[in-house]
Amino acid sequence: MKVLFFAILSIATFSCFMTQEKTKIIAHRGAWKNTNVPENSIAALQHAIALKCYGSEFDVHLSADSVPFVLHDHSIQGTYIEKTNASELSKIKLSNGETLPTLESYLLAGKNQNQTRLVLEIKTSQLGKSRSLALTKKCVELVNKMGVASITDYIAFDFDVCLEVKKLAPHAHVQYLNGDKTPEQLAAAGLDGFDYHFSVLQKHENWLADAHQRKLSTNAWTVNDEAVMQWLIDRKVDMITTNEPEKLIQLLNK
Ligand code: MG
Repeated sequence: MKVLFFAILSIATFSCFMTQEKTKIIAHRGAWKNTNVPENSIAALQHAIALKCYGSEFDVHLSADSVPFVLHDHSIQGTYIEKTNASELSKIKLSNGETLPTLESYLLAGKNQNQTRLVLEIKTSQLGKSRSLALTKKCVELVNKMGVASITDYIAFDFDVCLEVKKLAPHAHVQYLNGDKTPEQLAAAGLDGFDYHFSVLQKHENWLADAHQRKLSTNAWTVNDEAVMQWLIDRKVDMITTNEPEKLIQLLNK
């Protein structure tokens, strides 16, 4: 009887292990750090795809004449994206010689593959809520037009932007970034999950389990330290967003 009990226990433990999903890797602004290419460049996206990352994150702003561009900061080389027209912005070169990517050129580069998801961060406008919402509309329209909706996920710090994406694209996967909503609040709002700074999750340790119970996805940014990566893996976070995808690949394959 005892032998049978342990046999059943071992099978249960083994199948539990087999069905447990591995933490997924999101390259933060692409895989740029160890490849010496600019963050948010198309080259960084291509490196993330070559590494077989689950996702590659990038940031989007709206030009003065309403063309979305991929860049983290609000300005580049002294040029403020939101106050400059696309024709001027398209003259800007990144340090690797690439032209400052429009969202369209970026999505085109990520289009012909389905291994790495395109994790599109809609940046909060410094010119007001209406511009953030206008950018949201442009992003969803362009993602649909380019035929990449099935491989694109959305993240944003502005809660209203997250809600707007769900309104415009109800099937899109949307995670909130700002760390000030509980899993219960996110579920009630119809969002798909959170992408919170790891310190928020260390402070609210029950949020990971709570989110999983509510079938919300969990993601932590920007985790470059191995001990923090392991802390999150041990707590079964779904995704880790990192500048060090190579380090996380090694850790997950240990
Ligand atoms: Mg970002």
